[in-house]
Amino acid sequence: MLHYTRCLIFCGLSLAAAAASADPESTLEHYARDPQQKVDEAYSKKIAEYTTATMFNSALTDYLPASATVPTPAKVLGDVAGAPNMLPYTKDIYRYFRLLADSSPRVKVFSIGKSEEGREMIAVAIADEALLADLKDNDARLAQLADPRTIGMDDTKAAALVAKTTPVYYITGTIHSTETGAPTALMELAYRLAVDDAPYIKGIRGRVITLITPVVEPDGRDRMVDLYNWHRAHLGENYPHLLYWGHYVAHDNNRDAMGMTLNLTRNVMNTYVGWHAQVLHDLHESVPFLYDNTVGDGPYNAWVDPILTNEWQQLGWDNVQQMTQFGMPGVFTHGDFDTWSPGYLMFIAAMHNGISRLYETFGNHGADTEERILSPDEYSRTWYRQNPPLAKVTWSQRNNNNYEQTALLSTLNYFADNGKQFLQNFYRKSKRSIEKPANGGPAAYVLSAEDAHLGAQAELLRILQLQHVEIQRAGSAFTAQVIAPPEKKDDNKTSDKTAESKDKSADTAKDTKPKLVARNFAAGSYIVRMDQPYSRIADALLDRQYWAPEDAQKHPYDDTGWSMGDQFGTEVVRVTDGGILNIAATSMTGTISAPGGVHGDGAIYVIDNHADIALITLRYAFKGADIAVAEKAFDANDRHFNAGALIVRGANGKSFADKLVELGLDAYAISAAPDVTTHRLSAPRIALMHTWLDTQTEGWWRMALDKLKVPYTYINTQTVAREDDLRRKYDVILFGPVGVDNSQLIVDGLPMWGNTMPWKTTPLTPNMGNIDSTDDIRPGLGGTGVAHLRKFVEQGGLFVTSSDSAKFAIDEGLAPGVFVASAKDLRVVGSVLGAEIVDAASPIAFGYSKNFALYSPNGMAFTVSNLVTGDDGIANAKDYKRPTGRGGPNEIDIVQSRGDSELPALPSAKPWQALPLNAQQQRNNPFAIPAGLRPKTIVRFADADDLLISGLLQGGGALAQRAAVVDARLGHGHTLLFANNPIWRGETIGSYALVFNAMLNFDHLETVESAK
Ligand SMILES: [Zn+2]
Repeated sequence: MLHYTRCLIFCGLSLAAAAASADPESTLEHYARDPQQKVDEAYSKKIAEYTTATMFNSALTDYLPASATVPTPAKVLGDVAGAPNMLPYTKDIYRYFRLLADSSPRVKVFSIGKSEEGREMIAVAIADEALLADLKDNDARLAQLADPRTIGMDDTKAAALVAKTTPVYYITGTIHSTETGAPTALMELAYRLAVDDAPYIKGIRGRVITLITPVVEPDGRDRMVDLYNWHRAHLGENYPHLLYWGHYVAHDNNRDAMGMTLNLTRNVMNTYVGWHAQVLHDLHESVPFLYDNTVGDGPYNAWVDPILTNEWQQLGWDNVQQMTQFGMPGVFTHGDFDTWSPGYLMFIAAMHNGISRLYETFGNHGADTEERILSPDEYSRTWYRQNPPLAKVTWSQRNNNNYEQTALLSTLNYFADNGKQFLQNFYRKSKRSIEKPANGGPAAYVLSAEDAHLGAQAELLRILQLQHVEIQRAGSAFTAQVIAPPEKKDDNKTSDKTAESKDKSADTAKDTKPKLVARNFAAGSYIVRMDQPYSRIADALLDRQYWAPEDAQKHPYDDTGWSMGDQFGTEVVRVTDGGILNIAATSMTGTISAPGGVHGDGAIYVIDNHADIALITLRYAFKGADIAVAEKAFDANDRHFNAGALIVRGANGKSFADKLVELGLDAYAISAAPDVTTHRLSAPRIALMHTWLDTQTEGWWRMALDKLKVPYTYINTQTVAREDDLRRKYDVILFGPVGVDNSQLIVDGLPMWGNTMPWKTTPLTPNMGNIDSTDDIRPGLGGTGVAHLRKFVEQGGLFVTSSDSAKFAIDEGLAPGVFVASAKDLRVVGSVLGAEIVDAASPIAFGYSKNFALYSPNGMAFTVSNLVTGDDGIANAKDYKRPTGRGGPNEIDIVQSRGDSELPALPSAKPWQALPLNAQQQRNNPFAIPAGLRPKTIVRFADADDLLISGLLQGGGALAQRAAVVDARLGHGHTLLFANNPIWRGETIGSYALVFNAMLNFDHLETVESAK
């Protein structure tokens, strides 16, 4: 993130005053250039011209060596790397790297895949020609170090391999499209590595293979260049922020290393693992002047090898020390980035036995040279930042390029000097990953063939496959010693935890060693063994997380919990007993899918409902098919089917059967219709609405619909303001989280002063406007838009909202009787929380078991009321305090000389329920919601003891048992409110179906009798 703090207080500090640091001679000598090699004088002069003060450059990058044969970046850029006022498109960046490869035997370019919008991604290898000629053999040696099983875990053989092998250092640039400096810095870096004859550079290219992906997010890069060009053509005017960084998400593309949903993550993963690289170093741009966040701050991820955390320290502090010796201010490595979540791109390396690294350098969101005024937290001196950034500075893109290159060159130099040690560490970490069952464990995870949610299970296993995790499948049934499961819950009991069960949990807390019991697993169960090189990523994703509320780190950088089995709604059994490793099982080679197809004969197919996300794909794939949905559970042909099971008639063609196989759905053929009430499963017309404020969080929703082939119209708040008959076009409007917790901004949009800010395709901006466009991003939904949404719901539409957009629906009167619950001292930071279905008869709950997990970004919850004004102030049993009078505290007072000591019972309600209204409260009360229009809680958060599954939870009492998903009624339609975010980063597959169920049954949310 970039902080633009407009502050004038600290403007007086001169740049020269802070430049007082000396270069020790030894450092200069070490990095001295080759006096025999000519310098490109014109290029070097430009470097000096564009650098705003000499302290912002170093002896490493204040000149460019000349070459008679190899073109400099100026050949493509028309100016030097980091020149002001221009940014190159990806095609120009790639053209330069290919020119380099054509002109130098030390450079090779590889295509590594495509982006969502079809743009190429590349990786560029740079090393001595002899090393590049030996790439294949070198990689064969690296592959053995990466998988020590191939050399019998033999340290002597490993040492011999290390002696002959060259390590790979992989650098990735511009994953974040607003962070613009890396591509030109990397172009020039590649030139230097290929051309410069300085002894230290020769030392790097002779001992390290440097691999570079100059643009990780090419779609966003080209849009950013468009936007920047628009800005240059309209100087002095406001310009839009980059609304679509990539095709789906903005900075969250750097949280995808868990879910692996984006092309860029998969392409970098395959390149990193495919090259058996030792380092993945991602370049970012926000913090002044260079934050090597490798060391970051605690808590460190609990699944990484301590060798790695020491490597972070070793590389980070050496980098800071070298940069400090060059006299470059504002370089540090400890800082407020915690290294807990494994979702970052660089963490691909951390989770695959390499080294994750990241630089934040300073930048201006483009190539303008600007005066920047920092905030005290940025320029203050602390123990880890003894030469802090300047409080006020004129900053250029060239400065940024100097910092990035100097830091990379000095760290590559250190890495080359210590390459054998890092290779040895790579081998050792890989070996220790294989030894995991004996050292820390677990031995394996088992995913049962009898799981209720095989579709979600297959989704999870496919992610592990994308992570290059080995998965095996048992051909026959087996028994394993597993940790005894907690006492099974009584499904019919919804009451609070009793004192008795609380005592029991206190007892189990005293047991230090978990009890093991034998558990049978059916043939076809999957085993993820931990004696494999990439056991760490499997363990990190499948295990649970605990962030202590008392942890010294009070500002988690990202989600604190992610346990993917819970979030997918599929059971992962953690097995610590090593006996599991003796079970005969076959390695899975192809992509894993759930079993699917037609079973038996008959004209009618029944497809059970397990909240499978493939059901919605099936519905739209056969839009015209006669598909009914069972409103209750039933038995047919000796099989039990859940409420929500699909009953399909007249679809016995091959294409339908093939689709079932493809989607991993089982259909059971029966000859007579089952005896159960049904309604037609709708294929509703869907609109996905976004604002022009931010498009990131809804981007995950958009991606989910695209991946599942659910057709929809992508509309924005301005469309809704214009469209007075939304119901004519749409049945369902999805309004995913906005990322802006401010209902007024959603309505008002951006202030209307200043100039118009277009977001559309023009000759100047050919890459903008392809996802959505507007002549002016400023206007919001407006009062008219709100009225149109209200009319849409009143006329029978379904409006789906989540977190901040749910609050918007409440604030704008679209969800009568629903309120945001008071948070009190609650703390939740991206945690996985227990939830419970309370209205099992609602179609929204089809396919769900009673207890499951929800992802909660911030601990939001709802209260519901039968009054549009809320339950506050209504006398109720919970809040009743007896008055002064006769008797003990729990007795009732008696009025003397009167017989009527019976008091009327006060109403009581569970935290997820509305208080019942008595006759007087309903009489002549315009605020009382008619019985048929009262909000219904569908899902609530779990009891306090069962609330935390993974992550951070503090003050959970404010959240326990509160409503999480509420179906509010307005006119003939519904506003569905999620306090959680059901569709998030491809990691919450288990809660997708709550949204899809509501969509497919949007016209029958009332017909099923709700459980009381
Ligand atoms: Zn960034």
